[in-house]
Amino acid sequence: MSTTPSFQPTRPIAYGRQHITPEDVQAVTETLYSDYLTQGPKVAEFEQKFAAYVGADYAVAVANGTAALHLCALALGVQPGQRVITTPITFAASANCVRYCGGEVHFVDIDPATALIDLVAVRQLLESHPKGHFQGLIPVDFAGLPVNLEAARQLCNEFGLWMIEDSCHAPGGFFTDSRGREQRCGNGQFADLAIFSFHPVKHIATGEGGMITTNRRDLYEHLLRLRTHGISKDPAHLQRNDGGWYMEMQELGYNYRMPDMLCALGISQLTRADEGLLRRRELAARYDAAFADMPAVRPLAGAPGHAYHLYVIQVPDRKALYDALRERQIFAQVHYIPVHTMPYYQSLGWHSGDFPLAEAYYAHCLSIPLFPSLTDEEQKYVIDCIRELVG
Ligand SMILES: *Cc1c(COP(=O)(O)O)cnc(C)c1O
Repeated sequence: MSTTPSFQPTRPIAYGRQHITPEDVQAVTETLYSDYLTQGPKVAEFEQKFAAYVGADYAVAVANGTAALHLCALALGVQPGQRVITTPITFAASANCVRYCGGEVHFVDIDPATALIDLVAVRQLLESHPKGHFQGLIPVDFAGLPVNLEAARQLCNEFGLWMIEDSCHAPGGFFTDSRGREQRCGNGQFADLAIFSFHPVKHIATGEGGMITTNRRDLYEHLLRLRTHGISKDPAHLQRNDGGWYMEMQELGYNYRMPDMLCALGISQLTRADEGLLRRRELAARYDAAFADMPAVRPLAGAPGHAYHLYVIQVPDRKALYDALRERQIFAQVHYIPVHTMPYYQSLGWHSGDFPLAEAYYAHCLSIPLFPSLTDEEQKYVIDCIRELVG
């Protein structure tokens, strides 16, 4: 029996998309007429409000999530010869930041239930080498499911590693620690640094944009310098002082600033972050219920603190479903092609077959539409199509 839905989408339904309101537009327009387009008052305001949102002491706004990762790797002193561990199921930038600084990336396979890096396998890798062999760990809150950073911190302390939490998928997400307390992603309690992206598909969209959060004042001050060419104007840190104009370039930094007008957009978007998160969780719960009686559709594990950047299912014939959904105007996506299988990383010595669980996950995964402005009717259409196609 065919259950072809009667609803026809009026726009292609992507896996994710931004939500821009008239208030957002007004916030940007106001800064366009102000005195500052780059480093104005909106930068500090966005940083303060974002730090408060995630519960961290400090935040540094930067050009994008990739710039955030690069600056974090620099601030933590990554250099040639150092080894940093991350997951193959992530966006390439989580690994690339180590390469920008000349370090070596080491991957560890995933836990197949969550597609997060398997901390038991991380421990095994650390134990199979002398202490001091690895310098850092970059766990990723993949799909919006927060990594247990308390357990990750324990490992880092035991083996002397720093930690960068790549939380691009999970602003507002939390995990519950061993004492039953909710620990928000990026709150600086466990990771040395956490990073976020404001790419249009992420929870908070500014086009390009990123944020680093931390509770470590030393790293915070260093990041501020690195973001602007390595230049300091702080009289307390200058080696000499020739006058009011004087500044010093004290190390090699970059122009990784986030402009004032985009920070204004970020501030406006942040006011709706909790609302968006609730809607994402509501949509995810509806998908969970819709697929509960379909053994051929296997969603990744959920959790109360899941931020649901993505809703990922695994199906027997992923390519067939992807193609058939596209014909029905549903633009699902695959997250991710394992980073170690990219030709660049293969040229560094990694091979297909190195991380079988990540590769098995990749063979079947599909991210289906999930974003706050997805309508109930559109979601029902997506569900009906998947039920019809997977059967
Ligand atoms: C989006 C993303 C990034 C990079 O962010 P950009 O702002 O696009 O540079 C890094 N890591 C993960 C996991 C991401 O999803």
